[in-house]
Amino acid sequence: MITKITSDSGNEYTINTEELTCDCPNWRYRCHNFGKSDDRRLCKHLIAYFNDHPELKPISLIQKDKLLDAATEINSRPKQLRVMFDAFVSEINSALKQFSDVVDKFEVCDEYRRLCSKISDLHYVVSLKPDKNFDSVIQYFTNILTYNLTRTLEDKTYVFNIYGLAELTVHIVSPKSWVLSLIHYTGDKTELLNLRNRANQLGYTLTSSELIVNSTNRPKDIIFESEQQFYEFLQLPYKQPWLRTNE
Ligand SMILES: [Zn+2]
Repeated sequence: MITKITSDSGNEYTINTEELTCDCPNWRYRCHNFGKSDDRRLCKHLIAYFNDHPELKPISLIQKDKLLDAATEINSRPKQLRVMFDAFVSEINSALKQFSDVVDKFEVCDEYRRLCSKISDLHYVVSLKPDKNFDSVIQYFTNILTYNLTRTLEDKTYVFNIYGLAELTVHIVSPKSWVLSLIHYTGDKTELLNLRNRANQLGYTLTSSELIVNSTNRPKDIIFESEQQFYEFLQLPYKQPWLRTNE
């Protein structure tokens, strides 16, 4: 069935519920790369339409849904090709840049920053300008980009579902722990373990946001300006994010 739908932004798009096509930019740019039994072929308009008309959803996708549900229950999300996330990252980056009155710094972390070829979900580290909160950005993400806010934790961690295709976690960190947070959320686990061991050798405890002086149990009175500076402090050669892996 071919039908016209009006999106939240007021644009009219034409979807085809058998061929699983839409003439929105997202479908033309990204979704068309996937076959008809792959739910990544669905843009948000097709997803919304099938939510309202589940009887029209192709059987191949319904079976896939069940498999995916089972897979996510077992453990983490299935990894997807990095290229799948490029469109999301540029969308998120340009959104965060627009909120320069609120957002001081931001960086995509984890697997995407380490340039892994396959990625399970997106993590961002964000620090805010003094006395600002993240509310206006959350509203933009949910109302304009139509991301689904699924979890929040203590005004510090926000988890969004992006069109049912990917998960985005935003970690709000304090400006003075920016560098250590960046290192923490970039990973990988093995690299963090190495850095923690090295810090211990030098008499410190490295946490996700602080370097504690073991003899006083207090944070070290130094604000790292860059990741290079932190590696230097630990007397280690600097590692680019894509080298921080043992995979
Ligand atoms: Zn569409």
